Amino acid sequence: MKLEGIHHITAITGDAAGNVEFYTDVLGLRMVKRTVNQDEPNVYHLFYGDEHGSPGMDLTFFEYPGAAAGVAGAGMVHRIVWRVASVEALEFWKDRLEARGVVSERSGDSLLFSDPEGLGHELVVAGVDDEPLTADSPEIPAEHALQGFDGVRAYSLSPVRSEPLLGDTLGFRRAEGERWNVRGERRGSFYSYDPAPPELNRRQGAGTVHHVAFAALPEDLEAWRLRVVSAGASPTPVIDRFYFKSVYFREPSGVLFEIATIGPGFAVDEDAEHLGERLSLPPDFEPLRERLELTLRPLPYPPAWRLASSA
Ligand code: ZN
Repeated sequence: MKLEGIHHITAITGDAAGNVEFYTDVLGLRMVKRTVNQDEPNVYHLFYGDEHGSPGMDLTFFEYPGAAAGVAGAGMVHRIVWRVASVEALEFWKDRLEARGVVSERSGDSLLFSDPEGLGHELVVAGVDDEPLTADSPEIPAEHALQGFDGVRAYSLSPVRSEPLLGDTLGFRRAEGERWNVRGERRGSFYSYDPAPPELNRRQGAGTVHHVAFAALPEDLEAWRLRVVSAGASPTPVIDRFYFKSVYFREPSGVLFEIATIGPGFAVDEDAEHLGERLSLPPDFEPLRERLELTLRPLPYPPAWRLASSA
């Protein structure tokens, strides 16, 4: 039983429209599901990914309109690291981000930047041969597209406390220092710790990561849950999120983890050609549709080129 790397990463935005613009237009991701937060169904839950909505390339946001900016501190992920194919892709992205008014910093084989709300991103040249997971975009040559998550970096005051859970329970393998690899039969990712900054104003808010989910085979989820219980952590029951099933627990450094199943996926309730173009609601939430369609703000998606190419 192995985890297949990162399944998805969920963060917070205070501005869904600006968020859609940055992730679909600037970064060239596809919106693969437009739904609501199942724990708070009056707010959006937006999912961005590759053309197929694959685990491993799925960044999601809860929108709390007007949310104050958060500050990543101990127990929080502070950087999302994505793969690209080449050094030429890093150059492409440096130019593209600059043209869109986004400051970036090139350092070695990596490019650092933040989204409009301060969420940290890094592009690195892929060092593994996992399948590239890419989205189509008319402005981004396929060879330069983002290819999925390489990993995440979190702050910890005491990473040693997390070692038994990561290593013994979840099967992460320590690489060097505080960097761990989590790899299954098909994909892998890294999870690493940096020393927590001294600021005391750590705060969940816009531009911060809420949780990181690791991918499991559907038939293994209950066994993963029991394994987490026997390690002394306190997971939720298995929760059916309709697009996948999930278990949540906090790892000892404070980061909220989820284990999510690979499948059934985002095409379970809409045509794969039209993912994310309208509000999708799992059956339990369908009675809220009329109210939600009045209160949720319109989003600048899909772009005209997508409508034209699927017409
Ligand atoms: Zn999640």
